[in-house]
Amino acid sequence: MSSSRENRATRSNIDKSRIFASGANMHVYKGVYTRGERSGEECVSKVFKTGSVFENAFFAAELKVVDEARSIIETFNAQRILSNSTILVNIPEVWEFTYTKEKNLVEPFIQNFQKFNSNTGWTPRNADPWMEVMQALSHYSYHITNGRLLLCDLQGGIYQDGFILTDPVIISQERGEYGPTDLGEAGMATFFSRHKCNQFCSKRGWSRPQNVKAHFAAQQGTSMELVVPTRYTRAPLSRRQPQYNPPIQEEYSSSDSDSYY
Ligand SMILES: [Zn+2]
Repeated sequence: MSSSRENRATRSNIDKSRIFASGANMHVYKGVYTRGERSGEECVSKVFKTGSVFENAFFAAELKVVDEARSIIETFNAQRILSNSTILVNIPEVWEFTYTKEKNLVEPFIQNFQKFNSNTGWTPRNADPWMEVMQALSHYSYHITNGRLLLCDLQGGIYQDGFILTDPVIISQERGEYGPTDLGEAGMATFFSRHKCNQFCSKRGWSRPQNVKAHFAAQQGTSMELVVPTRYTRAPLSRRQPQYNPPIQEEYSSSDSDSYY
């Protein structure tokens, strides 16, 4: 069974008059798909804040993270730890605004958005079952990849028959390999210093790192480190000029996204 939730659309209108949410390096705008299977459904568009000289590298890192997340979640779902529910991950694509040619990441909108952990091991205080499942999924990701990766920063929405994740983080052994939110070995040690096994992971004997220590403060937001992602791009180190923001709604398609895969 698939663990991914895709755009299944080729065009949308995005309302750029209002920033819907803001991350460390991205603004999120809302819009509606206008062509394709999801036509009429809501979507989001994530645009890099002006001046991101590593835009292409960040997009590549985002897509690489989502790809790893998808395969980890697929094996997690196959474990049948959850009897009637499935976890899905939103798959973003690089689309391009029609007029400005500005690149952005587009994915389906998620209702009832909540955050369940961060890449520094922050967790919410309330102990609902989904919160516990998400902590277990992070622990499982470390176990199933033989300690190579940790899937965290788990956030998304609860639906009738499952949970849809977006924007996860992968922490690897090598800091920065999965973008600036990959805090490396110190990040894994920090995460596990705060992880308490719950009913979904405690009896399964999943492995944990030997060295567990809090190197970072527990932040609800996503912690980032400045990493120059040379492995993704050879873009010149020049600063881009802020781009002109066109009128309220823009229309764009995915037709020029091929070079990013
Ligand atoms: Zn655990």
